[in-house]
Amino acid sequence: MNLQLTSEQTAFRDEVRRFVKERLPTEIRDRLRLGHPARKQDTVAWQRILNERGWAVPHWPKEYGGAELGPMERLILLDEIYRGPAPVPQVFNTTMLGPVLLKFGTEQQKREWLPKLANLDVWFCQGFSEPGSGSDLASLRTAARREGNRYIVNGQKIWTTTAHVADYAFCLVRTETSARKQDGITFLMVDLRQKGVTIRPIVSIDGAHHLNEVFFDDVEVPLENLVGEEGRGWDCAKFLLGNERTMIANVGLCRERLDYAIELARRITQAGVALVEDAKLRAEFAWLDAEVRALELTNYRMLLTPEEQIANPAFASVLKLKGVEIQQELAALLMRIAGPQGLERRPLEGPDLGDWEALPTPRYFYSRAASIYGGTSEVQKDILAKTILG
Ligand SMILES: Cc1cc2nc3c(=O)[nH]c(=O)nc-3n(C[C@H](O)[C@H](O)[C@H](O)COP(=O)(O)OP(=O)(O)OC[C@H]3O[C@@H](n4cnc5c(N)ncnc54)[C@H](O)[C@@H]3O)c2cc1C
Repeated sequence: MNLQLTSEQTAFRDEVRRFVKERLPTEIRDRLRLGHPARKQDTVAWQRILNERGWAVPHWPKEYGGAELGPMERLILLDEIYRGPAPVPQVFNTTMLGPVLLKFGTEQQKREWLPKLANLDVWFCQGFSEPGSGSDLASLRTAARREGNRYIVNGQKIWTTTAHVADYAFCLVRTETSARKQDGITFLMVDLRQKGVTIRPIVSIDGAHHLNEVFFDDVEVPLENLVGEEGRGWDCAKFLLGNERTMIANVGLCRERLDYAIELARRITQAGVALVEDAKLRAEFAWLDAEVRALELTNYRMLLTPEEQIANPAFASVLKLKGVEIQQELAALLMRIAGPQGLERRPLEGPDLGDWEALPTPRYFYSRAASIYGGTSEVQKDILAKTILG
């Protein structure tokens, strides 16, 4: 397989690289380089800059604000964003809900929602998981009943990332209990800023507030916020989760974190010798470099595979599984490079933002969650066993 970029692709990569260099605010770049997660204001500011070029949603049709880039160009763009390092476009809006609306939404919904999703004028979160319904998502119990031209929703969601800063959640709810469990599920867009919605924080092991519990108590959803057909929400969910797993491989992020680790090892000295001179550490860099390269090649392989085979869930699963393993290895490596200074417990926000050593430890702890969200590693192995081994 020839993996050289064509001259057009090289020119595109250079164009994106220049754009990121010139337009990414320095303050955002510096925060992300240290290892901070992007804040809402960082993501909004940067996504709007990208959106001027259609690059916030490069895979969408131009008619709805996208750039109609092919898969290779899209990957090049994403890699350059990670390389910035810049915030990636908000995933719930751009790679989850947007494509679902493009495939299952009405023309009216596309016209109304897609431009706002692309420009982050509205912030969505994902209300799928419930206590007791994570891997076995189809067992979910949050219920919606139809009353005239609206649904009334009651129930609870959990682990809802960014719900506390979101305007809406796209949710799976049960509208039918007698059918096969996958059949009675409906996909709704729920306004979180209304009476009857309670959002409670879950503070994670890194000391930060990313996650929430969300309670619905007679919450109203107008009929026009139903996506696809009532009772067929599982079709939307399957389509969306395939996209989610591919994105979670985060190949460009792995490359950026590895480069950062090497840069730190060059800068930091022990007894007057740069860490990078240590043979064991060098071997580890070499091994991780090979792992990241293999992940890159797998990603390219998927992009160069005909459309009908990409539907094979094994592709998304292997990228998710391996991408997460590498991200976690890198998080552990950065924590070791930080050494004992990294053990001092400091908040992720606050005046100490310049102290890079304070960050790898909480980031390492949070990285453990990557093998849970978006489908656990055990579930990915199940999928691989079924689809590859039969
Ligand atoms: C940081 C973080 C962010 C998240 N963000 C969101 C979000 O924004 N929106 C949202 O809807 N959800 C979100 N989630 C929830 C996430 O999707 C679920 O946690 C995940 O699907 C696992 O479900 P569970 O927690 O109920 O665990 P369970 O499904 O109960 O799994 C428990 C254990 O059993 C194993 N297991 C389960 N089933 C099988 C099986 N069939 N074969 C082998 N092993 C199995 C699992 O691998 C795991 O080790 C987030 C989770 C985390 C940790």
